[in-house]
Amino acid sequence: MISMMYAIPRDVEIVVARNLREAIEYMSKLKDARVMAGGTDLIVDLKMGRFKPKYVVYIGGLQELKYIHDDGTSLRIGALTTIQEILDSRIVVTKTPLLKAVAEKFAYWQIRNAATIGGNICNASPAADMALPLLVHSALVKVESLEGSRLVNIRDFFKGPRQTALKPGEIVTEIIVPHGDMNGYSYAYFKAGRRLGHDLSLVAVACAVKTGGGVILDARIALNSVAPTPIRAVTVERTLIGKRASPEVIEEVSKLIVHDISPISDVRAPAEYRLHMAKLLTREALLEALGKPR
Ligand SMILES: Cc1cc2nc3c(=O)[nH]c(=O)nc-3n(C[C@H](O)[C@H](O)[C@H](O)COP(=O)(O)OP(=O)(O)OC[C@H]3O[C@@H](n4cnc5c(N)ncnc54)[C@H](O)[C@@H]3O)c2cc1C
Repeated sequence: MISMMYAIPRDVEIVVARNLREAIEYMSKLKDARVMAGGTDLIVDLKMGRFKPKYVVYIGGLQELKYIHDDGTSLRIGALTTIQEILDSRIVVTKTPLLKAVAEKFAYWQIRNAATIGGNICNASPAADMALPLLVHSALVKVESLEGSRLVNIRDFFKGPRQTALKPGEIVTEIIVPHGDMNGYSYAYFKAGRRLGHDLSLVAVACAVKTGGGVILDARIALNSVAPTPIRAVTVERTLIGKRASPEVIEEVSKLIVHDISPISDVRAPAEYRLHMAKLLTREALLEALGKPR
């Protein structure tokens, strides 16, 4: 039934996990299996033949992995929480407004209702949008298998295009987004895409900035679609700290983004365009976060 509904190739066997334990057992016992959450990436990959697994373990119905809780210092987001649920969450808008800003420009309603935050990071596209607020917040990814659980810093989670730190048999179950150490920060997000930004990004930038006495005390900047994985712009971040929060400083320091990125040309945009947009959007995002005229 599920196979017909999603038009998955007939030689792929689908098993439906009824709870997390069962999902973990399937992923451990079945050789050559892939997890399916919302299926918005996986089904395309199966149809295109990018992946040819023997089994698909469907976890999309597991309510136990759909939640957003605040533990006081971090948001705990179940891996199967959809982008629309993040967009609609009152806790998200108060504690981590950058997640909401990114969810707002993520695809469109139908996709947002199926696409999960776990699927977005596990797919490990260089263009993954939810990676940006998670990088800015230095989120932790909770991973579970029959051996137990472990936490992976989001900066170590992405290993390359479509490659993650997940080991065979492991499933992402939760994303922990610290917010307690981010009082006094202001945020901005800019996404360049072909259809009003509501599809995969050509370049996107998210940032959080803290100032005191007119000086930049901290800057966290993340970009996608400009390197093999979503990245933090460490050169720009380091250079900004201690500098005056002026438009002239932002203009000059944004140019250093060339040291943090390695864009390529592909079907969606040439490398030169991405480089230009990375400088421009980094500047725009910083000015917006700092409340400066643009
Ligand atoms: C029309 C369209 C528009 C889109 N627009 C955007 C956009 O604006 N921004 C953006 O970033 N993406 C976009 N996407 C891509 C996609 O929707 C997202 O990446 C989505 O979040 C994937 O989540 P999913 O639940 O559908 O993952 P699935 O397709 O179910 O899985 C994706 C991959 O992750 C693995 N996986 C999923 N969940 C887990 C888990 N819990 N543990 C371990 N592995 C797991 C799967 O095995 C698979 O390899 C778009 C896709 C389409 C079709």
